[in-house]
Amino acid sequence: MIHTDALVIGAGPVGLFQVFQLGLLGLKAEIIDVLPQAGGQCIALYPDKPIYDIPGVPLCTGRELTQQLLVQAMPFMPADAPDAPSRNLHLGHMVSELRACADGGFQIETDKGLLIQARAVFIAAGAGAFVPRTLNLPGLAEAGNVHHFLHEASGTTAPWAGQHLIIHGGGDEALSAALSIARHPDLAQRPARLSLLHRRDQFQAEADLDAAVRDLMAAGEINLIVGMPTEATVDDGLVTSLQILGTDGQTRSQPLDHLLIRLGMSPKLGPLSNWGMALERKQVAVNTASFESSIPGLYAVGDINVYPGKKRLLLCGFHEATLAAHHAAAALNPDAPQHLLYTTTSPLLHQRLGVAK
Ligand SMILES: Cc1cc2nc3c(=O)[nH]c(=O)nc-3n(C[C@H](O)[C@H](O)[C@H](O)COP(=O)(O)OP(=O)(O)OC[C@H]3O[C@@H](n4cnc5c(N)ncnc54)[C@H](O)[C@@H]3O)c2cc1C
Repeated sequence: MIHTDALVIGAGPVGLFQVFQLGLLGLKAEIIDVLPQAGGQCIALYPDKPIYDIPGVPLCTGRELTQQLLVQAMPFMPADAPDAPSRNLHLGHMVSELRACADGGFQIETDKGLLIQARAVFIAAGAGAFVPRTLNLPGLAEAGNVHHFLHEASGTTAPWAGQHLIIHGGGDEALSAALSIARHPDLAQRPARLSLLHRRDQFQAEADLDAAVRDLMAAGEINLIVGMPTEATVDDGLVTSLQILGTDGQTRSQPLDHLLIRLGMSPKLGPLSNWGMALERKQVAVNTASFESSIPGLYAVGDINVYPGKKRLLLCGFHEATLAAHHAAAALNPDAPQHLLYTTTSPLLHQRLGVAK
C-alpha cells in the first residue's frame, strides 16, 4: 500500500499538469494510467498532429506537448536514472475501485492489485480509460504473441525482432507502427519479415504516411496481405497462423510469429461510473470554484468534468488543475497560510522545483 497526499487518475496532459501544480504547493502525488505511455489523447490519438492554441506555444505536436509536460513535472516525478520511469508514475494500470476511508481520504485499487491511499483524489480521466480496439477471434485474447502497443522499453529487445510480424489495420495507427518498426534505427530490433494485414488495398491514413508505407511496400520491406482474418490457430498459448478471407472469396492460412493489432483506441468510462459522485451525461459534475465533485476531496479536471460553459480544451484543463490543486492544498492543510506565490520570485517554489541557487 502506497500512502500519499494526492492520487491523480489519468496521465493525460491535464493529469501531468495536475501533478506539477500539486508539487508546487508541496503535495506529493502518485499518477496512474492504463496506457503504457503518458500523454492521454495527445499520444493515443494525435501524436504527430499540430496544436496551435497552447498559450505561449505557437505550435507543437501532441507528442511534443506531452514531452514538455513530463519535463515540467519532473521535479515532482523523480526517477532513479535519466532513462528510468518515474517512481510515482504507474503505467499499464486501470484504476478499478475507489473507496472512501472511514478516517478521511480514499483508497484505490488497480486491476493489477496496486493499492494506494490518498488524502485527495484528482480524476483526470478524459473520456475514460483508453483501451485498444482488438480483433475478436477465439483464443487471441489469451495468446502471448498478440500485442496492441509498440515496444517502447529502452534497453530490451522487441518481441518480434528477427521474426515474422503481422500488423493488422489500415489507419494512421497501423501505418505509423509499420513505418517505425520497418525503419527502426537498430537493425537487430527489426522483424525478419513485416506484413501489413488490411481488408482492402486502400488505407485510411494521412497522405504522407500512406506514401511512405507504399514506398516500403514497393521496396519489398513491407508485404501487404489483403483480407479479413476469420479464425486464429492457437497452439500452446501462441497464435501460429490466421485464416484470412481474401477479396476473391478464398480463405488462406497465413503463418506468423507475432501479431500487432493497431485498430485504434476507444475510451471506456468503465469503473468511474460506480464511484458514487454525481454525473451528468457520463461526466463528473464539479463546482467551478474548486473543481471538486459532489464528494469532498474527490476532484475532477480536464475532459472528464462538466460545468456550465465547459470547453474540452487543453488550456481549460490546465486552469482547472491549478484551481483544484489550490483548493486541495487549503483543505488538506487548513492551518497553513495560503499565500499565492509566483514561480518567478518565490524562493520556496524555487526550492521545490530544484532550481534554488
Ligand atoms: C484529434 C484531436 C485534436 C485535438 N486538438 C486540440 C487542440 O488543438 N487544442 C486543444 O486545446 N485541445 C485539443 N484536443 C482536445 C484535448 O486533447 C483534450 O482536451 C485533452 O487531451 C484532455 O486531457 P485530459 O488529460 O483531461 O484527458 P485525456 O487526454 O483523455 O487523458 C485521460 C487519460 O486517463 C486515462 N484513464 C481514464 N480512466 C482511467 C482509469 N480508470 N484508470 C487508469 N487510467 C485511466 C486514459 O487512459 C487517458 O490516458 C484535441 C482532441 C483530439 C481528439
